[in-house]
Amino acid sequence: MIDNKLIRFSAPFAIFAAVSWMVWRYNQFFLWIFPAYGLVFIWFSFFQEKELKFIFMFLATGIGFVLPRLAPLGSPVEAALLGFGEVAALWALFYALNSSQNRRQAGAERLSSEAAEHAGRARALESELKMYKEHMGALKDRIRFQAGLSAYIHTLSSCATADEIKARLRDMLKKQFPGVTAELESGAARDSLADWVAQRKIPLLVKNSAEENRLSSEVFSEGQRSLVVVPLNLFGSMTGFIRLVSAEPNRFSTPDLRTLEIISTIATVSMENIHMFERVRELAIKDGLTGLFTHRAFQTRIEEEILRAARSKVPFSLIMSDIDHFKSYNDTYGHQAGDAVLKAVARELAESIRDIDFAARYGGEEFAVILTGVGKARAAGVAEHIRKALEARRFSFNGEVTRVTASFGVAEFPAEAAIASQLVRSADERLYRAKHGGRNRVVYE
Ligand code: GH3
Ligand code: MG
Ligand code: MG
Repeated sequence: MIDNKLIRFSAPFAIFAAVSWMVWRYNQFFLWIFPAYGLVFIWFSFFQEKELKFIFMFLATGIGFVLPRLAPLGSPVEAALLGFGEVAALWALFYALNSSQNRRQAGAERLSSEAAEHAGRARALESELKMYKEHMGALKDRIRFQAGLSAYIHTLSSCATADEIKARLRDMLKKQFPGVTAELESGAARDSLADWVAQRKIPLLVKNSAEENRLSSEVFSEGQRSLVVVPLNLFGSMTGFIRLVSAEPNRFSTPDLRTLEIISTIATVSMENIHMFERVRELAIKDGLTGLFTHRAFQTRIEEEILRAARSKVPFSLIMSDIDHFKSYNDTYGHQAGDAVLKAVARELAESIRDIDFAARYGGEEFAVILTGVGKARAAGVAEHIRKALEARRFSFNGEVTRVTASFGVAEFPAEAAIASQLVRSADERLYRAKHGGRNRVVYE
């Protein structure tokens, strides 16, 4: 291919000039001029010099009209007709070549633009496909992660005790972070790393202890290249830490930290639930003022005791007790003083019985005590002991020293009753008699 534009331009014109000169000089070859011009024109077409082609055509046309007059070819009209014919042929050639060239060019341009469009579309589809693949990968990870989390939630929420939660949590950490030392620490911070977390109340992620600049290098021991410390919060206060340690640098990432935080939150929420559940259960069976069992717990216990006594043929006794003239005590010294007396009586009862026995606040200032495996004579002895202790006790309120006494009724199962309500009624009747008999006494007959 000839690259030099000057040669490409000048060569056809040189040929054009040479042909023109030849015809001028040997004008008997006049009719060769247009085939020669045709060749030069094809040369131009080959190089696609559009503007030059037009210049050439006009020059050739001009010469076509001038030369026949000089040529010795028959009559001037004949020469003019021949010249005109050749110019017309040259224009026809020009038109044919030009239009086919234009068509070819337009076709090529259309093809190349279509190819570019297809290539662009293919590129767009490729990048879309890549994006979908990435999206799908992320979705799969997310689904896996959420499935894992719901399994953790299920496991932790089905635990019955805080110790069980801790054991399960250890298993989870081992599974989620294999090859890593996982520790559950309860209580206050025991080293600088936990202290850092406790002070800032945020988790700590050290990707590489050799490049850590938030903490001094002395706080890391030998095998601690990367670590995570997450606080455990129970009811709004920090109660411990989860610590993961690895000898490998960059073992933990920010998503790992998020996972650990979620696991620790599930664990602490489960612990809070257990705590609340136990508290609610305790509230249902324990009296808030005295700490003794409630009336409802008493009903359950007496039924259990009846079954046990029936099976073992060993009797048990029930003591019903009521504080004497407590209404006037309240009226004289106030409700708060009355409450303090109730607490003291409850303590006296609790301290006078064995661990296997059972004391309940039966009503306002009435108490019930179940003495397991004890006949009523011995039970009356226990009641007498309590009565005396209470009688001897002094209560002081606002500088005033006061005293209280209580009355007691005792009954035995199964000698005096076949069912729980009968036993309670029997002990209650004796209590009533103790009241009518002058109060501050024990009645068991
Ligand atoms: P007695 O039993 O000797 O016949 O006379 P009483 O005055 O104790 O008789 P009653 O059973 O009618 O009175 C019970 C009183 O106990 C009424 C109430 O003011 C008081 N009481 C009941 N529950 C509470 C309590 O939780 N706190 C206080 N401070 N007083 C209570
Ligand atoms: Mg009463
Ligand atoms: Mg009373």
